[in-house]
Amino acid sequence: MQSTDTEFLIPTSVSEALRNIAKEDAIFLGGGTSTALLYKTRMIEPARVVWLGNVGELKGMFASPTEVKIGSMVTMAEIAADREIARLLPGVSSAAGVIGNARVRAMATLGGALAHADPRQDLPPALIAVDAKVSVRGGSSSREINLSDFYEGFLETVLAPDELITEVTIPIIPNRHSSYLRYTPTSEGDYPTVGAGASLTFNGDGKSISTAKLALCGVGAVPIVSSEANLVLAGTTGDDSVLRRAADMVREAVDPQDDERGSADYKRDMAVVFAYRALKACLVS
Ligand SMILES: Cc1cc2nc3c(=O)[nH]c(=O)nc-3n(C[C@H](O)[C@H](O)[C@H](O)COP(=O)(O)OP(=O)(O)OC[C@H]3O[C@@H](n4cnc5c(N)ncnc54)[C@H](O)[C@@H]3O)c2cc1C
Repeated sequence: MQSTDTEFLIPTSVSEALRNIAKEDAIFLGGGTSTALLYKTRMIEPARVVWLGNVGELKGMFASPTEVKIGSMVTMAEIAADREIARLLPGVSSAAGVIGNARVRAMATLGGALAHADPRQDLPPALIAVDAKVSVRGGSSSREINLSDFYEGFLETVLAPDELITEVTIPIIPNRHSSYLRYTPTSEGDYPTVGAGASLTFNGDGKSISTAKLALCGVGAVPIVSSEANLVLAGTTGDDSVLRRAADMVREAVDPQDDERGSADYKRDMAVVFAYRALKACLVS
């Protein structure tokens, strides 16, 4: 199909965007950084593009003592620059700040970063580690999905074609420390070989761990969540040997592929190393 055939729709409200997406062969467009490449290579040729850039409802960020809400049209650059996000959610702030390069971060949106579902993406493990929930609206319904349940496979999510991500909600838990670290052996702006998001929540004594969360990107068809980390770390004080044991558990959980960023064995080793470093970083954050 020629690009002149594509109808470009610019709704100004969520309800108008949902009416637009209900038309035949329509897709949402956030910042366009992924979609532009798919167009260029003719992997997608939609009849209609519904650009969300004028929908004000999707653009806010809001922090209260109990939760942070980020609209789906907030960009990576805005998340990375926000001081409250950096204070409350340092892992999310770090992940948003290392994606691609400054030009990508200026355009790429939260909704696009989640819906694109490339398993190497930085933001999902950082958000999963702090229990993020995705709010979604369809034509006649709305639902909230745990981000850990959002991914189904390479470039595949549980979203129906007419469902719009409106915002992401992250609970603020007292005594929780979080981090995100990644490893990029090629250029700094490249996708990571492996990235690890972690959080440790401490009991009131400030010493013993009540809950540990660990998630990784780049080492499977979807973000990998290590439930074993919590089994190993909960109830301990996070001594170095326990952190190493928890990190070592990801060796069995991940399922990496050989590619230009490294062999599967190498990635498995790097997943363990970066899981350990991300957990360790929570102790000093
Ligand atoms: C040069 C380059 C380098 C990159 N490096 C990295 C990297 O290091 N780390 C990393 O994590 N990522 C990287 N990326 C990928 C980048 O994170 C994604 O391209 C970006 O996050 C997608 O966001 P977007 O707003 O541009 O999405 P778009 O391209 O607009 O959309 C992507 C997908 O999401 C859908 N969509 C958009 N918004 C919504 C919504 N609100 N609700 C439902 N569906 C929606 C679209 O229909 C489309 O299917 C890189 C990309 C480029 C081009």
